[in-house]
Amino acid sequence: MKRRRFLVGFASVLTLPAWAQRAPRAAAVPGGIARIRLGAADPAPRARLGQERLLVVWERDEWIALVGIALATKAGAKLRVEAQRAGGALERFEVDVGPKQYAAQHLKVPPGQVDLSPEDLARYERERAHLAEVLGTFSDPAPATLAMLQPVPGSRSGTFGLRRYFNGRPRSPHTGMDIAAPSGTPVVAANTGEVIDTGEYFFPGRTVILDHGQGLLSLYAHLSAIEVGVGEAIAAGAPLGKVGATGRVTGPHLHFAVYLNTVAVDPALFLPD
Ligand SMILES: [Zn+2]
Repeated sequence: MKRRRFLVGFASVLTLPAWAQRAPRAAAVPGGIARIRLGAADPAPRARLGQERLLVVWERDEWIALVGIALATKAGAKLRVEAQRAGGALERFEVDVGPKQYAAQHLKVPPGQVDLSPEDLARYERERAHLAEVLGTFSDPAPATLAMLQPVPGSRSGTFGLRRYFNGRPRSPHTGMDIAAPSGTPVVAANTGEVIDTGEYFFPGRTVILDHGQGLLSLYAHLSAIEVGVGEAIAAGAPLGKVGATGRVTGPHLHFAVYLNTVAVDPALFLPD
């Protein structure tokens, strides 16, 4: 543990740019990430939010737990985090969730486009259960770095968290970042990891999901082509597929999402400005 700690500190001082050393940017708001300082004692503490284990990393001179805060969390809520220190002592922390107002989008669409057919609904429910299981992945090794690469060049939509209404009825909020790029543009892994899911799904179309360690996952959707298989190791910057317009979309773009302790957090927090 001491040895690994030294190497991580060494790498972050000598090779990572300044923004990467503090990635992700922390903000205790819905869709954001809270940081909890857990002290310097070895071994690494284990931390939980409810049933979900949290990512714990060594940062400069102490252990830090990162808490992904679900978009559905209300401002003013208190999240209770438990940390098990070396020696077994249990410590409790409270995260006060602050306000964050995401934009709303109201769309009027023909009723037939809002309500899925029974077959599509059954397919969607099956896929939702499968994806929830995949997004619950927690593997023990911590990510070597939390900083990420933008997986495709292009302008970012900034629509993470967008509250969508179809004919006045609330739909699920937008859980990722959309990056505009022509069909066929190579998409690369935002961080080093392992491919834990590939598939073609009703809403996200052709999709790849990567596990970067300790509940930090990234998801790439609407791909025209998938070039990796489940179980493959992938390095940051290595190609995984191509931009497309598969699934329910109006045009080609990459939907890029980042998950921490099973909840979608703003991918921009991990990317350079
Ligand atoms: Zn999207």
